[in-house]
Formats: sequence, C-alpha cells, structure tokens
Amino acid sequence: MTTIAESRPVALKEAVYQRCLNIDCGATYGVSEVRVKCGVCGDLLDVAYDWSRLPTPKRLVDLEGMWSKRHEPLRFSGVWRFHELLPFAPANRVITVGEGQTLLQQADFVSRYVGLRPGQLYLQYEGMNPSGSFKDNGMCAAFTHAHMVGAKRAACASTGNTSASLAMYCAVTQLMKAIIFIGTGKISYGKLSQALEYGALTVQIAGDFDDAMARVQEISKELGIYLVNSVNPFRLEGQKTVMFRVLEALRWEVPDWIVVPGGNLGNSSAFGKAFMELKELGLISRVPRLAVINAAGADTLDVLFNQRNLRWNRGRPRMETACWYYDELDRNKTKADTIASAIEINRPVNLKKCLRALDVCDGVVRKVSDQEILDAKAQVGAGGIGCEPASAASVAGAKLLRQQGVIGYEDRVVCILTGHQLKDPTATVAYHTTDQDKFEEVLGSRGVTRASYANRAIAVPNNVEAIIKAIQLYS
Ligand SMILES: *Cc1c(COP(=O)(O)O)cnc(C)c1O
Ligand SMILES: [Zn+2]
Repeated sequence: MTTIAESRPVALKEAVYQRCLNIDCGATYGVSEVRVKCGVCGDLLDVAYDWSRLPTPKRLVDLEGMWSKRHEPLRFSGVWRFHELLPFAPANRVITVGEGQTLLQQADFVSRYVGLRPGQLYLQYEGMNPSGSFKDNGMCAAFTHAHMVGAKRAACASTGNTSASLAMYCAVTQLMKAIIFIGTGKISYGKLSQALEYGALTVQIAGDFDDAMARVQEISKELGIYLVNSVNPFRLEGQKTVMFRVLEALRWEVPDWIVVPGGNLGNSSAFGKAFMELKELGLISRVPRLAVINAAGADTLDVLFNQRNLRWNRGRPRMETACWYYDELDRNKTKADTIASAIEINRPVNLKKCLRALDVCDGVVRKVSDQEILDAKAQVGAGGIGCEPASAASVAGAKLLRQQGVIGYEDRVVCILTGHQLKDPTATVAYHTTDQDKFEEVLGSRGVTRASYANRAIAVPNNVEAIIKAIQLYS
C-alpha cells in the first residue's frame, strides 16, 4: 500500500489524479496514493480527470448501449456501466457485486402529498441496492480503489448503512476485513444485523457518530487501515452514477429539481460533481436545481447556508464560519438528535464540496422536523415501495419547498430515496401502532406528537363472526 507519508505533489502528467479542493493550494497526488486529505493544507481531495486525454462518450444516449453488454460484469453494474465517466481504475480491475440496479418510479400518489401535478414527481429508489442503500454506489468505487492499492483492511464510522455496505463487499469478495465503528444507541437493528452477519469487526464506541468519525480517522491513520468514509474521494465517484441513472431513466432529459437528504453531504457533493462534469464534457446543456434537506435535529448545513450565509464563494468559502459554529455546538453541548439516524450528523465532512454542489446547481437548503419526516415516510410507503426515515426527508423537503413556492406545481422533481424501508422497522412500527396519548413517550422527545397517516392493526376476538364483522366495517 502506498504510504500516507508521501506528500509529494505530482506533476499534471497523469490523466487521472487527486487534487486538493483548496484552489489556493491545488496540490495534486497520484491516483494510487492513499490519503483522505491534502498533505499540504489538510483540505478535502477530489478525483480529477483530464478529459481531453480520456475516451469519453460523445452523447449521453450512447451510454444506453452499455446495457446490451450486461453479460460483462463491468456493464451489468449500475455504477461501472458508466465507467467512462469515472475512469479512475482500469476496466479489468473494478469490483462489483451487481450494485446500482435501481429504479426511478413515477409516484403519482406521493405527488399529491407533495403538491405537484401528477406525473411530475419521481422517486429514485436506491434501497434496491444489494445492501439496501445508496451507499453501495460509492462503496464499490472506494472498495475498487482499496483493492487497487493492495489494502487488506478497510474501516469506516457509520450510522449503519456505510458499515452494512462495506461489510457486504468484504464478505462477498473475501478480499478485505471490514472494521466498523459505531456510536452507542442510535443504530437501527436492520443495519447492525447486516454488519454482524457479514462478519465485520464491529467496534462500538461510547459516544455518538461524530465521535466515531473522529476516532476512525485517527485510528486508520495510526494503523494504516484503508478508510472508506465519505471523506474518501473515490466513494463520491461511484455516487455520481445515481444521477446518470436518473437522467437515463428520464431519457436524458434533465429534471427541474433533485431533492436529497443531507447527512455527511457525500451524496449532494457527488451529484454536484456529476453535473459539473457532464456540463464540462458538453453532455448536458443545463443542470437541475439541487435541494439538500437536513433533519431539524441535525441542521448544520441549514444554519450555515441560510442563517450565516456560508457560500462556495468561487472556491474560497469562509470555512471559519463553520469552525465557529462547531465551537458553539461544543460549548452548548449540542448533539445531533433525530429519528432519521442516517442523517443524525452535526459535523458533515463533505460540507465544502456540498457548497460547491449548491453553487453549481443553484441549490437550496431546508430542514424538516421528525414529524414531517415520519408523515412523509408513511405517505411514501402508502404509495408503495417505502423507505427508511432519513430518505423521507427528501419528500418532506419537496413538500415544504412546494408550499413555499420555491418548487412550482409543474416542475419535474426527483426525490432520492436513499435507503430501504426494512432498514429501520422499529420507526415504522412505532408510527403505525403507538396510541396518540403515548406518542410523546415513544417518539415525543423528538417532537413527534401524532401519526397522521397511521394504519393501525385492528384487534378482534378469535371468532369468525366477529372477524367478518370487523373486516366489513373497515373495508
Ligand atoms: C448515508 C445516508 C444518508 C446521508 O447521505 P450523505 O451522503 O451522508 O449526506 C441519507 N440516507 C441514508 C439512508 C443513508 O444511509
Ligand atoms: Zn491542499
């Protein structure tokens, strides 16, 4: 494995390289160097391409033809099908378990809830990935890079889905040992059960996600373990393909809005990079607008963007604004708190890249309450397919933006459903079964006071007549 100690910036002779996000630094590193931040200034790294020296598609529609080659693992994967748009690894070195076979569903039932003209709301269902969340898109890319550089152990801190994904890639390929760091308490059983069953070494830290994130970075550096958290720039390359598939499903028509939940802000950052690059390659003529939705109990991006006016600022965002805010959080002992555990994050590692994405896509940021999240989730479920709580933040956010008139009635909107409904059955069952007067108790600490769309089970005696009577009454 290439060591972290080399901070030798490479000359721009390679067509693919890693580049510091800080435009006043601009240090570059070889593609097979293992690092999660710039060795010169400590900023995030981007995977960068000199497209003029790479074979790129001339038209997006040409990419569709790849599906006809689905007998090749490279083209079967919903990520590597777009290899030409993330060509950091040689085609014969990429790792796939068949990720990215996801679908874009026109959701007329949910469009009524959101307040859009029927036919205009689409749900990109990333829960259909092999480990049940969009994380597989990024993980296959990071895992490919890890294997490329000879890693034998890979680690991440996780609210659940990243660890489930990493553990799955390790188990299917048997190429690496997964080491996952979780906080205490807030991990859904669906996700934890995956990591345990796939055989990951699971380290539970007495702290929250932000603590686990800080520790995993220190420890993987100390022990030379490959880190696959979304600070890893290769993960974002894989996550770009969610947007390629959305465009493909819309017959390459760019929608008006992409709405995505924001946690560590890897997805939003990746989507922005995807559109930036498609534009640069002349493959699209306009970019959609991006809406990033925080949970109200983990609203760092919303505070920084909407209240403190933190912007990309042509590559020179005033990141001190974020540092001051984090100091405030520490002083007030504020911890992230939301039922949407996958976005229960107060120090989003990809903040700066997300600011770039918001700039590229003329983006907006909103926050939604746990009440709005759970109601939206119930409506997504009632429309079929369903999702986990964090995913429903996108639908709740679209509804809010519609009410505010930011999204128009006629706009074509794509909400990303980031994770599978069965990831967090506890939240779903609590919503549908808890009595109104117990709500405060069960979910109330997070301000959820009602279940507007609860579908309650009916209790009947063990008696045919009574059962028939009940069914006729309720159906
Ligand atoms: C990881 C995750 C998110 C948050 O995505 P980021 O890229 O970290 O912003 C949202 N929903 C689900 C289901 C997730 O697993
Ligand atoms: Zn730098």
